[in-house]
Amino acid sequence: MNTSKLKSKSKTFLTVNFGCRVNATETNQWSQVLIDQSYTPYNLITEIKSPDILLVNTCSITKKAEKESLNKIKFFHHKYPNLKIYVTGCANVSKIKNLEHVSFFTNQEKEKLLKKLKSYYTPEIKDKFSHTNRFLLKIQSGCTQFCSYCIVPFKRNYLFSLSPTDAIKTVNKAIKNGYKEVVITGVNIDEYQYGLSNLIKLLLEKTEIKLISFGSIPLNCISKNFINLYQQPKYNQRLSHFLHIPIQSGSDKILKLMNRPYTKKDIINKIENCKLKIENLKLGTDIIVGFPTETDNDFQKTFKLCQQIGFSKIHVFPFSPRPGTKARIIFEKSPKISKEKLKERSQKIRATQLLTN
Ligand code: SF4
Repeated sequence: MNTSKLKSKSKTFLTVNFGCRVNATETNQWSQVLIDQSYTPYNLITEIKSPDILLVNTCSITKKAEKESLNKIKFFHHKYPNLKIYVTGCANVSKIKNLEHVSFFTNQEKEKLLKKLKSYYTPEIKDKFSHTNRFLLKIQSGCTQFCSYCIVPFKRNYLFSLSPTDAIKTVNKAIKNGYKEVVITGVNIDEYQYGLSNLIKLLLEKTEIKLISFGSIPLNCISKNFINLYQQPKYNQRLSHFLHIPIQSGSDKILKLMNRPYTKKDIINKIENCKLKIENLKLGTDIIVGFPTETDNDFQKTFKLCQQIGFSKIHVFPFSPRPGTKARIIFEKSPKISKEKLKERSQKIRATQLLTN
């Protein structure tokens, strides 16, 4: 995409974001690029004429998310037939490829351009994740882990890591604009090339940010160095004591089929160590129920593990087969788990969090 084409004075732009925090930060970065080129944000409520540019950042984590993204593009195309629409993100756009005035660019093209533009900071734009005093800091993007159920590595296999120098500069700008907290965000921060604990330490030392929190933190990022940061009195209160660690299952058989890079024993060891060493720790997680071949016995292992750990927040996802993934192939070959059973398993997992709240 040639950004010089976007250059104009007092023109307006609208962004529509779907999906995760990483998409939200990228949408903000795009907004910053346009603001730097003298565009102003379009107000959907007060303005009558069409915006000059629309950017849609799509999601495909589930079938529903993908459908919503594509429907939104069709809606705006119908409402403003002459509007220039730029579409990016993870959705499969083949169904709308021929719409006039709609241009597509891949996640990789988006990443490379944003990296080149170094547009990491946007004070003007708010989104559903980032309110006035919480700044979303995207430190990483892309994933090559290929968990068997996940479509993300097919859509975002270009790895990006924000350098500590740029991270420090960005956080200092955010502080100047009144932000008190940064939320560390990435697609898979286990693939952050400069080391997560190293970056956190630098942010604590080189900025005066009041609180650093984490969107979602992979189990393998919970290292000795990471826990050590909490044990230093000068850092302890500036680090969030809520950690969302997605474990997905408590059955080794299912974890292996999912291609998750740990076992149940690793989960217990790492999380129990956190509980021991980080005072007043609260934990969250993601669990997939009904992964193909999940038996009652597998499910019980997950259920008991959730009880044992005591998560205060659990996002439960019934398995959703995504085209092109290994799990979809396993799904097609294995007996189906009934909707009732999926519902029952989801409820049981959710109920474990009530015990700890
Ligand atoms: S770590 Fe696994 S679940 Fe997370 S984005 Fe990568 S492949 Fe998907």
